[in-house]
Amino acid sequence: MARSDLRPVVVLGATGSIGAQTLDVADRLSIPVVGLAAGHSSAALDDLADRYPDAQVAVAAAGGEIPSRFGVGSEAVAELATIPESVVVNGIVGAAGLEPTLAGLTAGNRVALANKESLVTGGPLVLEALATDGAELLPVDSEHSAIWQCIAGEDVDRVKRVVLTASGGPFRGKSRQELAEVTVDEALAHPTWDMGNRITIDSATLMNKALEVVEAHFLFGLEFDQIDVVVHPQSYVHAFVEFVDGVVKAEVGPPDMRKPIQVALTHPERVSDPHQHFDVVGTDLSFHAPDRTAFPALDLGYEAGRRGGNAPAVLNAADEIAVSAFLDGRIPFTAITDIVSDSLDAVPHRSLERLEDALAADAAGRQAAADAVHRLANSGR
Ligand code: MG
Repeated sequence: MARSDLRPVVVLGATGSIGAQTLDVADRLSIPVVGLAAGHSSAALDDLADRYPDAQVAVAAAGGEIPSRFGVGSEAVAELATIPESVVVNGIVGAAGLEPTLAGLTAGNRVALANKESLVTGGPLVLEALATDGAELLPVDSEHSAIWQCIAGEDVDRVKRVVLTASGGPFRGKSRQELAEVTVDEALAHPTWDMGNRITIDSATLMNKALEVVEAHFLFGLEFDQIDVVVHPQSYVHAFVEFVDGVVKAEVGPPDMRKPIQVALTHPERVSDPHQHFDVVGTDLSFHAPDRTAFPALDLGYEAGRRGGNAPAVLNAADEIAVSAFLDGRIPFTAITDIVSDSLDAVPHRSLERLEDALAADAAGRQAAADAVHRLANSGR
């Protein structure tokens, strides 16, 4: 039985990790699924289309055998985000998530944002679209969901600083020299969170946290010196919020993305979840400062964020290219951040005023990174 008290859900990136977990939550809460989108056609998407016969379905890329019921192209994906009165869960990976975020907000929808690249690539544009009547942006990133819940009912001007936690990834404690030798399989083995490939590598370099710093800046209107990062291997505390009077709030629980997803889907209600249980006894929590020399991605995030304009978009785009070159075995792990750093310096600074500016910054970041990968791969022969 579909529930009528919760808004129907549109799932963008339906075949990915966030998509699967969103559908889990939606099924359990009997929330109707009215839209499904994926980057490419696949047997997995066909199965989902069968499972949700009433949902509109779209694929971004033409190619493969696409059922006639499916819409095709990025416009078709963005159109799903405009289905009235829905919650749009944006679990698309990468900068491709920006247009659907803007479309959903401009249509006055609630966008539950797991695609942090929307804010990193087009933060100023997202904030502008958020001014639309009815538009809401709810974070579906565990750290940002935690901050959002800690500041609910508070005056955001009274926040002194926030602290994002980072698991530290599989290479916590390794030196820069040791990191130069790590393999793709080692980098893909994340100790606490079960996620897609790109975000898993980004967690291993700490670039994921760098993107989250930029995300927090735009989501909560915080200055970069109000945003700190601490390594917390157990991933139980998702964020701290410190207020001007010294009071600190935190959101705590086992790492499971279904929780921030459910919070966003049921907002402003809380709905019972019998699967969630937090054992306080026997839970040892530790926190320490990140190693900024071994993991330079973190400071690159702050630097790009402070530069503003197109710099965060370039950071993200260059990282996407560098991560895929690492996954293809073309460059060593430590070259990922070298390439991102070179790309940030190579692309001239521009302001972001229109979607075209964000897309141009993305393209320029990709090109600069592809050039850097090419130089590096050739120099090694
Ligand atoms: Mg996160």
